[in-house]
Amino acid sequence: MTFSPKRSLGQNFLVNPRIQERIIEACALEKNDVVLEIGPGKGVLTRPLADRVKKVLAIEKDNFLAPQLEKESAGTNVAIEHADILKYPFEQLPAPMKVVGNLPYNIATPIIEKVLAFRHKFSVFYMTVQLEYGNRIVARPHSKEYGSLSCFVQYYAEVKKLFKIPPSAFRPAPKVDSCFLSLRVRPEPARKARDEEFLFRLIRACFSQRRKTIRNSLAVVYGREDTEKLLAELHIDPRLRAEDLSLEDYVRLAGQN
Ligand code: SAM
Repeated sequence: MTFSPKRSLGQNFLVNPRIQERIIEACALEKNDVVLEIGPGKGVLTRPLADRVKKVLAIEKDNFLAPQLEKESAGTNVAIEHADILKYPFEQLPAPMKVVGNLPYNIATPIIEKVLAFRHKFSVFYMTVQLEYGNRIVARPHSKEYGSLSCFVQYYAEVKKLFKIPPSAFRPAPKVDSCFLSLRVRPEPARKARDEEFLFRLIRACFSQRRKTIRNSLAVVYGREDTEKLLAELHIDPRLRAEDLSLEDYVRLAGQN
């Protein structure tokens, strides 16, 4: 049976050995590490990962690739689970683990949300994503990439863009550049919100109308009068826009713990 890559599963397989090496080097793994690999595909990262660590648990959804990897890994320190990462019971995972994945681009956000929801299990998450998406994750205030995704991920993790990857490193080649990122899970957020759900709702509300002043966006949440009072109290200029506020400002606005 011939295998053809499925776009629905975001299958762009890494074929450049130099990039494969850079990814493995950048992960700075230690021999006692236990790694969760998301979407091992044909196993180009799985094998070199397994050579460096105690154990790799790799979760692959593809009906053809998963059984093949399972066969190849029999009797090694690699365990393959034929499953959907979004449905996999993370509560059953051992801890601590490191996560590595060349992510299926179409479900990158729900994967990141799930890993961060179970952050007490993980120390670091290394990932390949589309460059434009990666830029949004690492963006800082005052840039057009900065938004609710940047705030959400940076609240829970220290993020770093490690290097860019050209389309030619993959087969089939995607239309856009990719990049390799690290998300180092923070033991505690730098500033903790009293109610995290409310914090992210507030951030989304502000960024959903980026061109509005913060005074107008917040009025929808707090009402006009309370907004003016709150901004004055926190010494935040009401004429600023969503992208001008730091994550720390948002935590102060939402109520700090
Ligand atoms: N790691 C391989 C590599 O670097 O060549 C493959 C990377 S490819 C971008 C993404 C992989 O994730 C594919 O093997 C795909 O089948 C798998 N995948 C897609 N959706 C998945 C899901 N929901 N759960 C688990 N694996 C998934």
